[in-house]
Amino acid sequence: MGSHSDDSSAASFVKNPTIKFTKLFINGEFVDSVSGKTFETIDPRTGEVIARIAEGDKEDIDLAVKAARQAFDHGPWPRLSGSERGRIMMKFADLLAEHAEELAALDTIDAGKLFSVGKAVDVPHAVNSLRYYAGAADKVHGKVLKMSRELHGYTLLEPIGVVGHIIPWNFPTTLLFLKISPALAAGCTMVVKPAEQTPLSALYYAHLAKLAGIPDGVLNFVTGFGPTAGAAVSSHMDIDAVSFTGSPEVGRKVMQAAAESNLKVVSLELGGKSPLIIFDDADLDMAAELAILGILFNKGEVCVASSRVYVQEGIYDELVKKLVEKAKAWVVGDPFDPKVQQGPQEEMLIVKDEIFGPVMALAKFKTIEEAIKKANSTRYGLAAGIVTKDLSVANTVSRSVRAGTVWINCYFAFDTDCPFGGYKMSGFGKDYGLEALHKYLHVKSVVTPLYNTPWL
Ligand code: NAD
Repeated sequence: MGSHSDDSSAASFVKNPTIKFTKLFINGEFVDSVSGKTFETIDPRTGEVIARIAEGDKEDIDLAVKAARQAFDHGPWPRLSGSERGRIMMKFADLLAEHAEELAALDTIDAGKLFSVGKAVDVPHAVNSLRYYAGAADKVHGKVLKMSRELHGYTLLEPIGVVGHIIPWNFPTTLLFLKISPALAAGCTMVVKPAEQTPLSALYYAHLAKLAGIPDGVLNFVTGFGPTAGAAVSSHMDIDAVSFTGSPEVGRKVMQAAAESNLKVVSLELGGKSPLIIFDDADLDMAAELAILGILFNKGEVCVASSRVYVQEGIYDELVKKLVEKAKAWVVGDPFDPKVQQGPQEEMLIVKDEIFGPVMALAKFKTIEEAIKKANSTRYGLAAGIVTKDLSVANTVSRSVRAGTVWINCYFAFDTDCPFGGYKMSGFGKDYGLEALHKYLHVKSVVTPLYNTPWL
């Protein structure tokens, strides 16, 4: 794909991307699927076929799990020191940063994502994830226990084993790295099932992982469909944990399959119906800006989109006027154009359920109690936003809202250090933060008598 010290080759790639990686990545090699089947990946801007991608199925997942199991049980990755794993992850991060344009372009043609955002936000987020967990890899340690009898006890933190990651299409880069980075740092090996709509960047990342020196079998990618390849991950007897991001309907199936197979550890990052609560004292321009960004960013295809906006009655009419003005000024068009704010869209329970699109439900409230009640009137609990200048209001609401993340006078304020995950039907288990690292670690307790005297 050209040299990356040469700006013009990156620019020509962005204009006319050549798709080099279209096969499954198993045990460090790009291979055809066992069945030989392929599927089309489509450019949502034009509806045209970009490439044909290997269609992995149960048999391919079996091969990938075998490679990951071998790498976990006998390979170097879990046995390397944390600092050595961290060094290789840092190299992987550097390669991502070098190839940021190509990677962002792949997500633009595959998912219709804004190129400027991919380059400035998604790929840098992935780089940060790798660097954050690379830095944590040599700081994983247990603790000495204060046992009540004449015993010496301590805990060891061990990698959980072979992990299956199932990824959705709306953030193919960010969501991939938010999962694989802590799992790599923990010393796990893994099988990734990217979304069938967006396989291109994942396969490019596989190539960069190999270049970085991640040993064969540690990171395997099987492209394919949910009911076949995805289901084979969640029901596999030799996968120790599955980390899923996607819809609540499929999350339920993943949990069921895990329960009916080997009771693997499950974490689910699911949908949302996140409220943004705007109080009378808010800065109206900022509030309108946050509300518009909250629902229109990434075409509204964001699990934490602020799809319910509750506005205190004193400012309701004025805020609605501003929202309409700002929505009209929102620029829709070619996702490669830096002036464009929204690329091509895809294909009523609008107040309680997730639409996963740019549809905002607006409602008035009078009191803080009413705002809290309304905010909590959903089965979901992924995130919430509050716009107010009153610290006491902000703190009261943030403690009363049943959601995994609360943003005060901001929205989409993600950081690798900040744990992210849902309450209620938005799932369980955290991505980001050191919490995510611990998701991929087992705690082992080791106990010995303190003295040489016989125990019994
Ligand atoms: P989806 O649930 O349809 O698909 C997600 C992944 O699951 C894909 O890789 C798909 O192939 C796979 N899959 C489908 N059926 C499966 C099965 N039976 N077994 C195993 N895997 C299967 O979701 P989507 O349409 O790709 O993404 C949109 C949804 O994801 C929305 O609900 C959104 O809120 C949610 N999401 C959540 C977060 C979060 O962090 N909470 C982030 C992004 C998206």
